[in-house]
Amino acid sequence: MEARTNSPKETKKVAEKLAKTLAAGSVVALFGDLGAGKTVFVQGLAKGLGINRKVISPTFVFMRSYPFLHHKKPLTFYHIDLYRGQDATDFRNLGLDEVFTEDAIVVLEWAEKIKDALPKKRVDVTIISVGEKTRKISIKVRK
Ligand code: ADP
Ligand code: MG
Repeated sequence: MEARTNSPKETKKVAEKLAKTLAAGSVVALFGDLGAGKTVFVQGLAKGLGINRKVISPTFVFMRSYPFLHHKKPLTFYHIDLYRGQDATDFRNLGLDEVFTEDAIVVLEWAEKIKDALPKKRVDVTIISVGEKTRKISIKVRK
């Protein structure tokens, strides 16, 4: 699926729509440069999942978790930002395996940094800046 957006609001709408299709255990991997709109997209995902808390960038803590009810089932939404991680050892020590469970929905910014460790079954979202306010968003479901 491809979309073109002309504002953060439109990007959030695309994310909200994707959120409605996610099942428990879903992993969403975000790709795109600094300022592409990955965090904006995460905010839309959270909104689409019915999470009303404000989602802010976890840059200094690498991960934030948001407990929520998904079709009445208690799940955790994990927002992970790997921007500051340095090397493979850093990432191995994060305990990511513990968040990739059926009781969570996980979204990662800078997912390319752990590409080999990502679950095969995931949704890849690539955001490309093509103008000050225009973004090209590609969504690919991998099985
Ligand atoms: P990233 O997490 O990829 O580094 P952010 O989501 O933090 O990027 O920031 C994206 C920036 O681009 C924000 O300042 C946002 O207002 C701006 N922006 C402008 N147009 C768009 C758009 N169409 N979609 C998303 N963000 C946009
Ligand atoms: Mg970000």
